[in-house]
Amino acid sequence: MRASCDFCFRRCSIEEGYYGYCNARTNMNGMIRDRAYGKVSAIAIDPVEKKPLYHFMPGTKTLSVAMAGCSFNCAFCQNHQIAKDNPETGRFISPEDIVKTAIKNQTPSISFTYTEPIVWQDYAADIATIAKAEGLKTIMVSNGAFSEEALERMLPLIDAYNIDLKGDASFYKEYVHGDIQPVLRSIARISSYGAHIEVTTMAIEGIHTQEMMAELKDMLVDAGIDIWHITAFYPRRFMSDRSPSSAAYIRKLRDSLSGNGIRYIHTGNI
Ligand code: SF4
Repeated sequence: MRASCDFCFRRCSIEEGYYGYCNARTNMNGMIRDRAYGKVSAIAIDPVEKKPLYHFMPGTKTLSVAMAGCSFNCAFCQNHQIAKDNPETGRFISPEDIVKTAIKNQTPSISFTYTEPIVWQDYAADIATIAKAEGLKTIMVSNGAFSEEALERMLPLIDAYNIDLKGDASFYKEYVHGDIQPVLRSIARISSYGAHIEVTTMAIEGIHTQEMMAELKDMLVDAGIDIWHITAFYPRRFMSDRSPSSAAYIRKLRDSLSGNGIRYIHTGNI
């Protein structure tokens, strides 16, 4: 019997015994479940600025956690080794033990990051529920392509977000194999909900033109976004043959887009 997953915009209808697009969700006896709940593919302590979040608990460390899986298939993915890994190869860590690790290491927040936490959101939600009861903050670094109902479920559990706005509609089709619309919808909803949100665009020299970036800025202004990170591309995955974006290109974008709408535009990866 087929069943549908409602975690992200794809709403995969999955045959029994098969996996969804993300490789992380499966149909087990007619029920959609995580393929490998709690199997962690990466865990580390990072400065919160590395997420990047520059305006949320600055100067603090965060416990970063990831399971494998992603709902996009970006040609330039900077983390594809873990995002596209087999989720079953991770090491099981219970939500309680993740929170204990944060407390032991005195990190005041836990971040769901590195891969796409939307596709392992039930594990993230279980950790976040315990973390909040212990007085810790929660952070989600995401592609933003939630389903509407999944975002509503997560909103009360997450204090701060960094959401990627990767390019314009044609960029999402050609290089991401995704859709810009659910991303814009999520950015606007998180902003109107009142959670802390910063947005990141990794700019690829020769692809992200001044015109495209100006269009993205207009979208972010419409969504009420105050903080935008423009970061440099490094050659990865199917775009390993391209040159990295130069510091001069990133700074020029920042300077030309500053003022009139977004209060903070930060550069990164340069
Ligand atoms: S999380 Fe998204 S990609 Fe994965 S199975 Fe669910 S709807 Fe499909």
